[in-house]
Amino acid sequence: MSTHPVHLGGAKFIKPWTKGLGEPDSPKSLGATAERSAKHNRSVTDAVPYFQDWREAAHQVKTFAVANLDKLLVEFEQKITARGATVLWAKDAAEANQHVLDIARRHHVKSVVKSKSMVSEEMELNHVLESEGIRAIETDLGEYIVQLTGQRPVHIVTPAIHMSAADVGHLFHEKLDEPFTEEHTKLTDIARRHLREEYLKADMGVSGCNFALADTGTMVVIENEGNAGLSTATPPVHVALIGIEKMLPSVDYLPLMLNLLPRSGTGQKLTSYTHLIHGATPGRKLYVILLDNGRSNVLKDPAAWSALHCLRCGACLNNCPVYRRAGGWAYGWVYPGPIGSILTPHLLGLKTAGKLPFASSLCGVCAEVCPAKIDIPHQLIHLRDRAANEPSSMNSLFQRTIWTVWAWFMAGPLRYRLAAFGMQLGMPLIKLVPRSLHPSMLGAWTRGRELPKATGPAFRTWWRRNHDRYESKKEN
Ligand code: SF4
Repeated sequence: MSTHPVHLGGAKFIKPWTKGLGEPDSPKSLGATAERSAKHNRSVTDAVPYFQDWREAAHQVKTFAVANLDKLLVEFEQKITARGATVLWAKDAAEANQHVLDIARRHHVKSVVKSKSMVSEEMELNHVLESEGIRAIETDLGEYIVQLTGQRPVHIVTPAIHMSAADVGHLFHEKLDEPFTEEHTKLTDIARRHLREEYLKADMGVSGCNFALADTGTMVVIENEGNAGLSTATPPVHVALIGIEKMLPSVDYLPLMLNLLPRSGTGQKLTSYTHLIHGATPGRKLYVILLDNGRSNVLKDPAAWSALHCLRCGACLNNCPVYRRAGGWAYGWVYPGPIGSILTPHLLGLKTAGKLPFASSLCGVCAEVCPAKIDIPHQLIHLRDRAANEPSSMNSLFQRTIWTVWAWFMAGPLRYRLAAFGMQLGMPLIKLVPRSLHPSMLGAWTRGRELPKATGPAFRTWWRRNHDRYESKKEN
């Protein structure tokens, strides 16, 4: 193994204007599927008369948990360590990746099966393992599909939501040498057959964790495909990756969370499997890595705490009109949609991700559907304020210059007219420039889209023509 593994620092922030936005077809199918899921899940949650009470209760429980994280984490560590687990702490993705590599070396690991874990996406764990010659296979069907394509997940619950069954059929034909099919059952059979082999060969299983119960030292993993159960129970070594915000004070609150998360995530009353992992089973090793990776930054800002309440259900993504149009990659990192817009700037810093809070129409639907009752729109406004007043990607010299020029043109009717004239002149000229020559930021938008044709007269012309008619109507 090399002594200088690459990617140890974790996932890179892709420039939001370069990835995904130039692929107009995939957001289209993604938008339709997300909308369908949103409608279905809404009908399931609306059918529960006390759903709003559950949301309020979950908000209170998570508020308590986040306020007492320091005590709950230590309690969880003590309880699960007493039952044979080894708990490791990681301040960032680099440290967490180093822990995983150390474990892999200790146990001579050559292949890994992974069940769904957003924390492992933060760490870019697959690339880290691969750079050390360790084969890592995603076993969640959606994650398996995006891993085969070499893409990133576009959604935190349904990673391949942008692909049709036919797309998957072509992919399996190309990568797995299977006959083309677009029948859902045949496609899942193919994936199942290939993955079964992997579980049996794997030296290590890696999982995430939906909830960590402090009073019993229990990790809770929910899933539908059985892959998390096989990944955590088949190989001789299990590594569980847990973001520190996953703590719940007590098992007493688990039924509440299990009522909320599947209904909001997939429109199910309960997922097919709920695994409660209390410690290492005889003859097997269990490692638990508790990852901060910027979460403590959220705790430093009391107005932003509730971003840590997130259950990762994906409801805010499915309902968000911006996410449905822009797709998951446009958010540039692991967490897309409204939750990404409030979480990523904290985890990566405003200098890197200060633009994300502005990627919202503030329509408020995310706050209406969030099972943890996170007030996402006010979080976005708070972050916009910080981004404008602190060093951030929205407060660079370039940005300040643009807004100063804009403010000057907007400060008087003559200047405004001058700007409008400039735009009228400039638009046709832009069309004459070959798209390949468009500068990077403008080009990311225009390469995938036609500039819309301005219709009708400009508002000022229209107003001049119609002003008198409106005034006389008002008087009458
Ligand atoms: S912010 Fe709320 S709606 Fe969005 S993923 Fe988290 S829990 Fe779900």
